[in-house]
Amino acid sequence: MIQPGARSLRKIAVVGRGTAGALAAASVTRLHPDKDHELHHIYDSRIPVIGVGEGSWPSLVQELQRLTNLPHETVQQRLKGTRKYGVAFEGWGRRNRDFTHFFTPQQVSYAYHLSADLMADLLHESTQARHIDAKVLNITRVEGGARVDFEGRAPERYDLVFDARGFPRELHPDRHIDIAFIPTNTAVIRRCPATIGEERAGPVLQHTYTRAVARPNGWIFVIPLTAHTSYGYIFNRDVSGLAAVEADFDAFLEAERVPAFEQRAVIPFPNFVHRRIYDGAIARVGNAAAFMEPLEATAIVSAQLQIGMVLQMRLNRPIEHLERDAPAVNRFLVNNMLCYGLFVGWHYSCGSRYDSEFWRRARDRVWPQYRKAADPEAVDCAALGKFDDMIELLNRPVIDKADWNRMCAVPLTSYAQMSQGLGC
Ligand SMILES: Cc1cc2nc3c(=O)[nH]c(=O)nc-3n(C[C@H](O)[C@H](O)[C@H](O)COP(=O)(O)OP(=O)(O)OC[C@H]3O[C@@H](n4cnc5c(N)ncnc54)[C@H](O)[C@@H]3O)c2cc1C
Repeated sequence: MIQPGARSLRKIAVVGRGTAGALAAASVTRLHPDKDHELHHIYDSRIPVIGVGEGSWPSLVQELQRLTNLPHETVQQRLKGTRKYGVAFEGWGRRNRDFTHFFTPQQVSYAYHLSADLMADLLHESTQARHIDAKVLNITRVEGGARVDFEGRAPERYDLVFDARGFPRELHPDRHIDIAFIPTNTAVIRRCPATIGEERAGPVLQHTYTRAVARPNGWIFVIPLTAHTSYGYIFNRDVSGLAAVEADFDAFLEAERVPAFEQRAVIPFPNFVHRRIYDGAIARVGNAAAFMEPLEATAIVSAQLQIGMVLQMRLNRPIEHLERDAPAVNRFLVNNMLCYGLFVGWHYSCGSRYDSEFWRRARDRVWPQYRKAADPEAVDCAALGKFDDMIELLNRPVIDKADWNRMCAVPLTSYAQMSQGLGC
């Protein structure tokens, strides 16, 4: 197939070597039709990757097979992975019962629980790039492309730059939409022994689920890999002190009879969507583009979408359309990220089994801000309308078959399962 955009995409940079940067670099290598294109993979080895991000969505299974050309079984084993069929919620909502949000079709479609480091290694093997270990000072738009300024190196000009440098240092209202309706902002990460052993003959076939367990100060994720089990306590540091969270984390692990743990990190995080994810020359991907707390593991799937949309448009559309395409792609991506945010924030709308300060605040004060935060005038996209449409569909006595495949970032089936489980 002739890809008319490929001629104007000769020199590309990916800045960052975390999950998002690794996916972007492997995607350029895989999708660019001209093998003599130039790809620079730039990162500062003194700045560590975030390294968490062990849950995914089913599209990653196909994507990794395509990018690596390896069979699914091999990919899963290389990732020390297990098959994730959904998220098991414990203690959420007003019904006081546990429930599962399955991928659709239920018990068929699966994603991976994966080691983020091993996934990056796997993707590097499938990437053909010149590696540059240097600090990037600035990425700026210039005529027909973008310029990257380095510390201690001459600047370079590129036709397209993927900016995968991770979280912004601070949020600025001109540049970022603050998703203020999500009530958490910090994670404590612990690593515990594996509960699922590696199979010698092949990948682990057992169905596994990310557990999302409500706790007085927030919730705990439990992600089973064959190398270890990952635990994270997600909370709000402005509401709960770290000591109280650590003590409740200890109590949880003790009740679960987890014999030992390794303390990994305390990670503060912002909840935001960048207003300019793509401007035609610079594409922000991964945590540089958007982030919301990890309740539904929306970060890797978001990076896949950002990278895929930008590359497909640049390769398949003639360059003359770029000025018109870029705002449309940007609006689509901002809209999609904000829809993810609304879906995640809505999980808090019915509280949990705990009548604690965290849960009262989340339900009564934080979530109700969603209409203001996602006001179409303020965010220049229609995410709020799409979200309202989903809730309206759920409230209908009969959902017409024509609506079954509707989505607001995630399918109607996901909204329906959450609505049933939470009791809202
Ligand atoms: C608690 C927690 C749990 C999470 N769980 C999940 C999950 O289950 N599923 C999921 O999909 N996501 C999850 N995430 C999100 C996860 O962080 C992302 O999926 C993923 O790691 C993307 O990170 P990144 O590549 O954008 O950035 P990072 O991993 O931060 O990488 C940034 C890269 O940029 C480089 N860099 C930075 N600044 C410069 C500079 N100036 N010059 C040169 N190089 C630079 C660094 O060296 C690094 O290589 C979670 C996040 C948190 C906080």
